[in-house]
Amino acid sequence: MRLQMTNSKTCPVCSTSVKGRSDKKYCSKKCKSIDQYENRQKTEGFYIKVDKQLKINRKILKGYNKSGYSVIRKNELLEEGFQPEVFHTLLEE
Ligand SMILES: [Zn+2]
Repeated sequence: MRLQMTNSKTCPVCSTSVKGRSDKKYCSKKCKSIDQYENRQKTEGFYIKVDKQLKINRKILKGYNKSGYSVIRKNELLEEGFQPEVFHTLLEE
């Protein structure tokens, strides 16, 4: 967190000048929750997307498992919506 020497800060949500304690970032609790909500949406949005894709991947693999396939052609998986890069994304983290 950056320290600011001046008191002329503006709310990152509505641009109203923020009065009060120097560590105060938002003009109101409402703006604070709006900003936190939006940040959460940004980060959670990514995880929700990955999670969704992982479920699709798992479902596809499970389907192949049931039918007794031990070797699956990559193209077959890709045709069904399997996205191998989602696994790679998670492994790299
Ligand atoms: Zn505000």
